[in-house]
Amino acid sequence: SAADDKGIKWGKAPCRYCGVGCCVLVGVKDGKIVATKGDPAGPVNKGLNCIKGYFLSKALYGKDRLTHPLIRKGNKMVKASWDEALNLIASKYKEAIAKNGPDSVAIYGSGQWTVFEGYTAVKLFKGGIGTNNVEPNARLCMASAVVGFMNTFGSDEPMGCYDDLDLGDTYILWGANMAEAHPVLFSRLIDNKLKNKKVKIIDIATRRTRTTQMADEYIPMHPQGDLAALNAIAHVILRDKLYDESFVKQHVTFKRGTENQPYGLKDKENPKEEPKPLTFDEYKQLMKQFTPEWAEKLSGIPAKKIEHLAQLYTDKSRKVNSLWTMGVNQHVRGVWVNNLIYNLHLLTGKICKPGENPLSLTGQPSACGTAREVGTFAHRLPADMVVMNEAHRKKTAEIWGVDPKKISPKVGLHTMEMYRAIDRGELKCLWIQCTNPFQSIPNLSRYRKAAQARKAFIVVSDIYPTRSTEVADVILPSASWVEKEGVFGNTERRTQHWFKMIEPPGEAKEDTWQLIELAKRLGHGNLFPYSQKNFHKEMWEEYRKFTIGTGKDLAPYETYFKVRGLRWPVKSNGQETRWRYTDADDPYVKKGEGVKFYKAPGNKATIWFRPYEPPAESPNSEYPFWYCTGRLLEHWHTATMTGRVPELKRAMPGATLEMHPEDAARLGIKNRDKVKVSSRRGSVVLTAEINGRGKPEKGNVFTTFFDETKLINDLCIDAFDPLSKEPDFKKCAVKVEKA
Ligand code: SF4
Repeated sequence: SAADDKGIKWGKAPCRYCGVGCCVLVGVKDGKIVATKGDPAGPVNKGLNCIKGYFLSKALYGKDRLTHPLIRKGNKMVKASWDEALNLIASKYKEAIAKNGPDSVAIYGSGQWTVFEGYTAVKLFKGGIGTNNVEPNARLCMASAVVGFMNTFGSDEPMGCYDDLDLGDTYILWGANMAEAHPVLFSRLIDNKLKNKKVKIIDIATRRTRTTQMADEYIPMHPQGDLAALNAIAHVILRDKLYDESFVKQHVTFKRGTENQPYGLKDKENPKEEPKPLTFDEYKQLMKQFTPEWAEKLSGIPAKKIEHLAQLYTDKSRKVNSLWTMGVNQHVRGVWVNNLIYNLHLLTGKICKPGENPLSLTGQPSACGTAREVGTFAHRLPADMVVMNEAHRKKTAEIWGVDPKKISPKVGLHTMEMYRAIDRGELKCLWIQCTNPFQSIPNLSRYRKAAQARKAFIVVSDIYPTRSTEVADVILPSASWVEKEGVFGNTERRTQHWFKMIEPPGEAKEDTWQLIELAKRLGHGNLFPYSQKNFHKEMWEEYRKFTIGTGKDLAPYETYFKVRGLRWPVKSNGQETRWRYTDADDPYVKKGEGVKFYKAPGNKATIWFRPYEPPAESPNSEYPFWYCTGRLLEHWHTATMTGRVPELKRAMPGATLEMHPEDAARLGIKNRDKVKVSSRRGSVVLTAEINGRGKPEKGNVFTTFFDETKLINDLCIDAFDPLSKEPDFKKCAVKVEKA
């Protein structure tokens, strides 16, 4: 754009942080970002930013930006040239592949990767090196949502969009503190509430938060109680025949999942699900056991409240939206809870309609666009395809111009298995880009010890030193956000493009460039034949081929220059899709067809029978508290960026332990006392916060994992959902003592 009267040029980009994907205007002067502001023309945020977005420019200008490659020499990291660093990485990868095969190397990326970065990693590792050991950190946050979408609808990502938040009137939040984790999106609910007296926000959670302050009802729930409560709501709907019979007949099929699968506490557990079809009558019969009184005991939600929730879900005068994110996904039965939420919408027909839909929220700026759509999970290929399917491998190989045999049918290591494989000495080389697993994964000490013992050669590409660069053999300085051209995809299927606006500092380079340099050194340079002049366009058009005709269709590259994002599938006339599976909007559903789950078998979505199961670990007399870790407003992820913004750091300098006042009094703990929190895996010293911003229910404690001075997630259990392999950061047993 032309410079304004202060000499500032304003460019458009999505926010660098969360999955809301706010549209930001970036002000550049003299080669530096001097300001950011919410774009009033941005449909996501209509000019708003949260405090993180407001200070976004400062995230790039921390004093300790990495500017040169560093190589480990004993206990020291010493400056190296790019050639030295890349040659060393290539020699280690070559050696490991020659001695132990391609599955002895891996890459661990992120929902913060741009589409280009994720696509490059997938193509190099799956199409070149011949291993599916590619994982995004989205395994830690969205994997349960992915499996939930796939096994209910046959296609990943939501049917609805943010417009539902303006058009609906009833919002049922399952374990989601939207006011802090998705603040600008939450403001759309509040706007609607100010305009429409009918609006109700129901907050079902294990602690009171800023979301609770704005909610119409707060319903406290025991950890793991969602499994019981959701089943009991469905029980009431079936008992009182409140379901939409014609919708169910036309659009739904029923299945029972396998119960009692292990939670992945042992290495290499990889159980498969063997679903059994059910009739509607069989399903109704099975659901009879889940009475509100039964659920009250397990969830702590009074039976009357469960009846009330069933009334809300079925009230024909209400447009109901369910919203959730990590509280549901980071759960040893995260997939089941996703399925159970969909069950309520499928039973009531409150789905695929403007203003009433289930909406699974995401945490990272491109958890959808990159981590999911590009195929960065260890079992996936682009556009929902999977490595186990021969036809999918063939289609992928054709687009990539490689021998189909090159793409392995073997599912790669999922995140927890990747770190366990280092511990076992089986994974020899790991490259981490754009994320900080040695602060964020559960049961950290086990995996940090393995890395510190140099059981694998570890490369970390990032923009600042982190808890992960501490254990690296090579550290590479990366370009960030508008220091490169990119594309992100947000929660509502919106694909947003931005141009490079400034140069990265020192010798920092884009992650895409770094990967292609490795590719050249491993003899796979021919996988990336794009011209220098049209590099991004050529890569985009190749990637776009995967999406055409699949219901996830992306638009030609230049289309995105002119818009503030487009929600896929994009029609051939360039029009986006707000609602999928409905003739209101979706190009794959003909007028008059109404709702059509065209990617699901038989065009019907699945209602799953998913019973209650206990958590992997529960409090006892030795470890009497539930421990839950999460986020707060001021910091994002492990605070690699927000921790460098002085205003945010001052506002929230470190993690605290939120406690219930009665629990604290019983232990003689006063506000601001130092407390030692211990689980079976580790301990951490924190400052007690009683009656602070977050107020956990009795018997629960909560803390935030952004604080890099403490390994908060060390205490978490590394049990995971057997279907999604997503670990449970929301519940394990701890004790609390005065430190
Ligand atoms: Fe918007 Fe999220 Fe960025 Fe805040 S952090 S400005 S809510 S995208």
